[in-house]
Amino acid sequence: MLKTKSVESPIDRDGDGLRILATRFRGRGMSTDRYDVWMPSLGPSEQLLQAVQSGQQSWAQFSREFLKELFMDGPIDSRSKTIKNHGQKFTLRLIKDLARKGNVTLMCHCAEDQQQCHRHLLQRLIASNKI
Ligand SMILES: [Zn+2]
Repeated sequence: MLKTKSVESPIDRDGDGLRILATRFRGRGMSTDRYDVWMPSLGPSEQLLQAVQSGQQSWAQFSREFLKELFMDGPIDSRSKTIKNHGQKFTLRLIKDLARKGNVTLMCHCAEDQQQCHRHLLQRLIASNKI
């Protein structure tokens, strides 16, 4: 099962399964035992994060841009004519498979009840048939 939660919320070792911190910034003073793996590449870019936090972009704009960023080609893609990385595509597929076999929890620094958090967008994307 694929879940999301705030990294600040109590840890449920059995229920959480693999705890992924999916944020660009790890967080100063954050203890490394609060997550199993830190994946900054699953967080919004610093530029996009700054745009939404400053109010330059609405949540709807942010959502669209964030989903685009997840599939953006990197410089390595120009070196492969056929099979490209397509951003985080294969990482997302891996998480999808892990979540079929056990629990995976995507985490962010946002509060537990924050609905406008990219972790929910990630969860929906991974659960969809787009990847
Ligand atoms: Zn968040």
